[in-house]
Amino acid sequence: MSTPKPIDPNSVFALVANRDGEIFDHPEWLMLGAAGRNNRQPTSAELIPLPAGSRLFFLPDCPPLGWDRETRKKRPISRLKGVGNSGLQGVAAFLPPAYSRFLLPAVSYRNKEYTLPLWAYTAIGWSEDVGYVTTACRVDENRQWEPEYFDDHEVVAGVDKKLLRYPENRLIDHMSRCAVDYHCFAAKNFFLGRWECPLPVSPTCNANCIGCLSHQEEVEIKKGESCPASHERINFVPSVKELLEIALPHIEVAENPVLSFGQGCEGDPILQADRICEFAREVRKTTSSGTLNVNTNASLPKKVRAMATAGMDAIRVSINSARIDTYLPYYRPRGYAFADVLESLKEAKTGGLHLAINLLVMPGVSDAEAEVTALLELIDNYKVDQLQMRNLCIDPRQYCDLFDDEFANPIGIVNLLKRLKQEFPDLHIGYFNRFLG
Ligand code: SF4
Repeated sequence: MSTPKPIDPNSVFALVANRDGEIFDHPEWLMLGAAGRNNRQPTSAELIPLPAGSRLFFLPDCPPLGWDRETRKKRPISRLKGVGNSGLQGVAAFLPPAYSRFLLPAVSYRNKEYTLPLWAYTAIGWSEDVGYVTTACRVDENRQWEPEYFDDHEVVAGVDKKLLRYPENRLIDHMSRCAVDYHCFAAKNFFLGRWECPLPVSPTCNANCIGCLSHQEEVEIKKGESCPASHERINFVPSVKELLEIALPHIEVAENPVLSFGQGCEGDPILQADRICEFAREVRKTTSSGTLNVNTNASLPKKVRAMATAGMDAIRVSINSARIDTYLPYYRPRGYAFADVLESLKEAKTGGLHLAINLLVMPGVSDAEAEVTALLELIDNYKVDQLQMRNLCIDPRQYCDLFDDEFANPIGIVNLLKRLKQEFPDLHIGYFNRFLG
C-alpha cells in the first residue's frame, strides 16, 4: 500500500455541481464523506489526491452536505451565491482499479426517486493546494491494469489475427466484442498475448445479486428499483476445444499467464464446473505452466473439490460479507446456502487451491464491528491466501436499505486494512488475481 502525503481535512472543501454539470467548491463549508448512513469529516489518514484515471459523476436531486464550521453543523448545499439556488447536485468520484475506497459521497437522498447505476461512488472534495482529493488508498501495486498499457491499435490488430486464425471459435468472437466495444482489459490481454486472460463460460447463475453487472430483473428495472446491467451475458457454453484454442496459445506466449473463469460478462462458472474440469485436465496433459483460476460464488462445494482435483490452481470466492445476515439479502441465493460457501472454502484448501476472497466492500458496512470480527474469523479459519478489496458498485442508499442491521461502530476501512495487516502478516492484501508461478 502506498503512503500518501498527509492532507489536512480542514483544508478540503465540499463540492457541488449545478444543473449544467459545472463543478464548484464551497467557499467555506468543508468536505464530508459517508460511512453507510452516517456522514462525517474524513481524517487525514483517509485523504489522498484524486488518482489519475478517476471519473466524476453527478448525483441528481441529491444536494451535497458540507461541514459548516460556524454553526458546527452538517448542512445540505441547496443554494450557493453565484452558482444558483435550485438543482444543485452532489459530486462523486469513481476510482481506477487498485484503489480501495474509504468513504461514500455525503449527500441528502431525501428527494432521490431513482436508483443510481452500478458504479462505486466515492467521496470527493477540493483543496487549494492539491486540487481534487478523495478518500482511498492504493491496495495493489500491480501496474498491469493501467490504461496506458492498453493500446487499442494493437488490440484491434490482435483481434483481426485471432479471428482469421480461429473463424469458428464463438468465444474468440465474443471476446473480440468485449475487448473492442466494452473495453474489457482482461479480454484485451488475450489479444495482446499477455497476463490475465478471461474465459467466460457460463450463461446462468444460481444467485441473484442486487448489484450483478450481467443480469438485472426486468420487473425491478421497470419499477425503478434497479438499473440495466452494464454487461451482456454470454449466451452459450463454449466447448472444450474453443476454450483450449484460447488458453494453450496464451500460456505459450504470454508473460505471467493467468487463465480466469468467472467474468463480468457471464453468470457463475461453478454451474459449468464439469466443463472446467475437462478443460483443466486437457491443459495439464499439455503443460504445467500458467495459473488456472476460477472466480466464483463457490456455492457448490463438491464442484470446488472436483475442480481442484482436475488441475485448477486457484479460486477467488466473492462475498459481500462473512456474516449470513448480510450475505443473503444481497446475494439472494437460489438453491444453495451460505454454509455451502463456507464448505467450499474448506474444500478449496483441502484440494490445494490458492484461496482468494473477493470482498465487495461498502464503507460503513464492511468495517462495522460485527463484520470485521466475522471477516477476521473467516480468514483465520480457512487460511485465506489473498484478500481482494473490491469497491462494491451499487447505489449506496439502495445497499443500506437491504438490511435491518444498523452496522454499529464502523472502525473505518483504513483501520480495517491496518487490523488485517497486523493480525495476518502473511495475508496478501490486493485487488487483482495473481500469477502463481
Ligand atoms: S454470483 Fe456473480 S453472476 Fe451470479 S448473480 Fe451474483 S454477481 Fe451475478
